[in-house]
Amino acid sequence: MYRAKSTRTGHHVYVDDDSHGDERLRTLAELRTALHEDQLLLHYQPKIDLATDTVCGVEALVRWNHPVRGLLYPDAFLGLVEEAGLMPALTHIVFEKALAQAEAWQEDGRELSMAVNLSASSLVDVDLPDRIGDMVEARGLAPSVLVLEITEDFLMADRDRAHAILTRLRALGVRIAVDDFGTGYSSLAYLRDLPIDELKLDKSFVMPMADDPRAAALVASTIALAHSLGLRMVAEGVENSVAYAELAGYGCDMAQGFYMSRPVPAAELDAWLAKRESAIGLRQPVAFSSAP
Ligand code: C2E
Ligand code: MG
Ligand code: MG
Ligand code: MG
Repeated sequence: MYRAKSTRTGHHVYVDDDSHGDERLRTLAELRTALHEDQLLLHYQPKIDLATDTVCGVEALVRWNHPVRGLLYPDAFLGLVEEAGLMPALTHIVFEKALAQAEAWQEDGRELSMAVNLSASSLVDVDLPDRIGDMVEARGLAPSVLVLEITEDFLMADRDRAHAILTRLRALGVRIAVDDFGTGYSSLAYLRDLPIDELKLDKSFVMPMADDPRAAALVASTIALAHSLGLRMVAEGVENSVAYAELAGYGCDMAQGFYMSRPVPAAELDAWLAKRESAIGLRQPVAFSSAP
């Protein structure tokens, strides 16, 4: 539908107002199809324990294998998933896939924790803790394998409610991480009494470390503060050896980033792990290959 629109000069032009709306509707229909026809998949990015230099876990990150547009990243579709009220459905699919993969790794004798991102909207679902508990149990996994990554906006919206939900989740034995820490308005003082285990320092603090001593100092003091509250610190966005070494020096617990590996399909991660292990077996220095 076309609508007259005034321009700054007072002339009327006709704008195809609905072109965006049409595309939105089309994507929405495609999204529903994607959920039903198994077009979503997970990539996994390794998390390194900096004290031991070993791979301790992975983060599952959703992708959409769109039949025409190819592989789509979360930024391209999660907003629409939220708007369309499809987040609970997506969350369910992501959990099923992530836990199936965790089970497969367990059967291969790999001890990897599995981190799954939970949107604030999916945490509104009061049945979620029970369902997560059931899914973990059905796979014969230890609940401690699972790490739930939640963002600050959820914690800030309603502190009492967040506290109650996190307490229920944690009672299952799963671990809770606060994702993108530092980008929201929460502070360590605010987080102090919440039942959480880890902070994931946002990549916007980690990426400039190598070039900016003040950025590095900020990261160092944030790690020290987190530790003083008994929280483990994970740095995301580690893109080079300088940041990696600095984080290790500051006592950061874990690191994740393109320097070690981009998020990749499970089979690629297996190959990466095998390569790493054979390097260690040969007693070669453990050097991370740069991003593929
Ligand atoms: P996030 O949870 O903070 O995940 C980290 C993002 O940073 C990922 O982007 C990852 O690919 C990227 N990243 C990791 N290392 C580096 C690095 O060294 N440099 C840079 N520049 N980037 C790095 P991705 O996969 O595009 O995901 C974006 C966001 O989408 C995630 O941010 C998370 O908030 C959301 N998301 C992803 N999967 C899911 C999901 O299954 N459910 C929900 N609710 N949200 C998800
Ligand atoms: Mg995350
Ligand atoms: Mg993050
Ligand atoms: Mg992020």
